[in-house]
Amino acid sequence: MRTRLPLAWVLWCVAPIVAHAQALGSRASGGDPQQGDVPPLVMPEPPRPLGVAFPIRFRVAHDAAGRPVRDKEWLRAQLERANGVFAPAGVSFAAIGFEAIDAQVLESREDRHALGRRLERGVVNVFVVSAMRDVDDPREWRRGVHWRLPWRRDRHFIVVTAIAPPTTLAHELGHFFGNPQHRWVPGNVMSYEHGETPAFDPDQLHRVVSLARRYLRAKELVTLERFDELHERGVLPLYYRDPFPRELGEPRGARVAREDRRRDVGPRELEPRAARVTRAEGRGGVGPREVGEPRAARIARAERREGAGPRDPSPPPPRRRARSMDAGTR
Ligand SMILES: [Zn+2]
Repeated sequence: MRTRLPLAWVLWCVAPIVAHAQALGSRASGGDPQQGDVPPLVMPEPPRPLGVAFPIRFRVAHDAAGRPVRDKEWLRAQLERANGVFAPAGVSFAAIGFEAIDAQVLESREDRHALGRRLERGVVNVFVVSAMRDVDDPREWRRGVHWRLPWRRDRHFIVVTAIAPPTTLAHELGHFFGNPQHRWVPGNVMSYEHGETPAFDPDQLHRVVSLARRYLRAKELVTLERFDELHERGVLPLYYRDPFPRELGEPRGARVAREDRRRDVGPRELEPRAARVTRAEGRGGVGPREVGEPRAARIARAERREGAGPRDPSPPPPRRRARSMDAGTR
């Protein structure tokens, strides 16, 4: 005898399986672990705390009367909150200075890019402005942003605005330290609903630790101790700037080729130009200083020779010195 399964019964049996498969599918395809919850079963153990402090330089917009848009107390509250949130990663931050800037309101992407001219090496660069318009929805005003220069993706910085709650710096530092996406878990620092006492999940802490190590290796950031040491020696502060400005009418390709030739001179990471020239002299690449020759002329002469390509038949300089700069990093 043929049994007929009622259609409703079949649907009732199959529906949960379909729903489950859909859930799995959405987790597999749209389930970017940085976007949403990481299921508790795959959440890693928290990392071992790194134990490192990074210097932060605050550049604060001032109005026409010379008043900062936010005072130091407000910034300290931001810093304290960030240190609390990053403590489980063993990463902390200390302000190394508050500098005045005149950029008040950031309206466009170009306004944000323009801050890139003030970037300092070895530190986390944080700008505080009175307001910043959302570049995607111009009706909105932002509380903060982690911004990269599109043509130099390795140069990035944080902007915090006067309307920011005390947790905004911690959130933007979360982006800075390897968590580009938001999370939709209330109370998570990378969520828009992070509340008063936000925290990282362990997987996010792993990214913080790993990015902190990477920044130290790349000498993009130095530790606070190293900063003080280099500062005392007059090496820091050192600013990112284009040391090879494009000459009038020069095609881009030519400029890049010129940069490459000049880069042969040796690593310039965290080392002022004068020190590099002195070092080059030490190995005879530039030639001895001529009697009575002013310093600037000597540097210009060295530059001309660099531009013409390396003449020194000796092998390129060892990176020993640059590496020793990193000795204090952990
Ligand atoms: Zn964000």
